[in-house]
Amino acid sequence: MYEIVWQYDETAPYEDLKPVDAAAARRLLIEGNHEFANFFNPHRTAGETTRHVVRVSPQDVGVSGKPGEAPPQEPFAAFLSCADARVPVELIFGQQANDLFVVRVAGNVLGDECLGSLDYAVDHLGTVRLLAVLGHTGCGAVTAAVDAYLTPAGYLGVAANFPLQAIVSSLMAPVRGAAFALAAVHGNAAESRPGYRQALIETTVMLNAALSAAVLIHNFHDAIGDRLQVSFGVYDLRYRTVGLPGPDGEWQVGLFEPPTDQHGFDALGRRVAESRLVRELLAR
Ligand SMILES: [Zn+2]
Repeated sequence: MYEIVWQYDETAPYEDLKPVDAAAARRLLIEGNHEFANFFNPHRTAGETTRHVVRVSPQDVGVSGKPGEAPPQEPFAAFLSCADARVPVELIFGQQANDLFVVRVAGNVLGDECLGSLDYAVDHLGTVRLLAVLGHTGCGAVTAAVDAYLTPAGYLGVAANFPLQAIVSSLMAPVRGAAFALAAVHGNAAESRPGYRQALIETTVMLNAALSAAVLIHNFHDAIGDRLQVSFGVYDLRYRTVGLPGPDGEWQVGLFEPPTDQHGFDALGRRVAESRLVRELLAR
């Protein structure tokens, strides 16, 4: 049996200390994700109970303090993440209530309302040390954008639905960047391989998260510094880890600084296109 437990031990009160800077916030998130990802161990003994404990501060869930008094909002990170039901942000980072300010929208696209919500967090919640964009593999919104890119006739169905069109159109820049990166690394002939569509989807997922994070840096330029930084990463639905393809082509766990210029985006696109993940998809 697997158990995920929110635990409050009255005999050993837990003090929910907030990270002092962005690096500490990133560490806490990645440690939490490491525990969550490794919790489901396929090699465990059958019948054994494995427990993942998330310690809870009673203040943060409003069960202490004066009766009728709400806890102050004190997240240490603000996320832009996809609405996908398989990406429960607090759970995959092992965090509890009042730790994360999470804005979720299909494709983690950065529209006005999402930007406004993050702007609130930056301006009003002084405990926020990290702004992070979280994409995920197999994203449905990215898939819709890739399909509209590959078969323009299919875009007619999207164009008739204005809200959906707004999301798909926001994703076209990373789709084009991903197509360019795949052509640069694997040649134009890669387009005819059976796995090309899936490779384009996953490459777009990485570039889309990076692009949204770069836009956050641009928008919150004045607030970014020692107190606040911007990171991005991709949640791999298969292995439950957050990361990106590293320079060696293997999955590298972590939350990373986004590129901020064309050279940086080209380098990221090439790195993703050269990764084992994308090579395996193209080889199908
Ligand atoms: Zn998604």
